[in-house]
Amino acid sequence: MMMNKIMMDCEKAHTVCDKSQYKEATVWEKIKLKFHLIFCKICKKYTANNTKLTKLIKSNSVFTPLPKDAKEKIKSNFKKELAKLND
Ligand SMILES: [Zn+2]
Repeated sequence: MMMNKIMMDCEKAHTVCDKSQYKEATVWEKIKLKFHLIFCKICKKYTANNTKLTKLIKSNSVFTPLPKDAKEKIKSNFKKELAKLND
């Protein structure tokens, strides 16, 4: 029973990963995400790329502050590219 509580599917893991980038994920969600990443290579890759992207946006915004919709656009383009890689 405990395992069911701590297990999350990949879709949920991606959501938590996104949320944690914006410091919106709860501690419990992060624990479950970490647990998921131990055995899920796909999500591990997704998280690594997501972290890279967030750093990229942050480092860019030091020089030119991007409006929120521009960030979203970069992010969605990035996800499209990522989807191609996973195919
Ligand atoms: Zn996964």
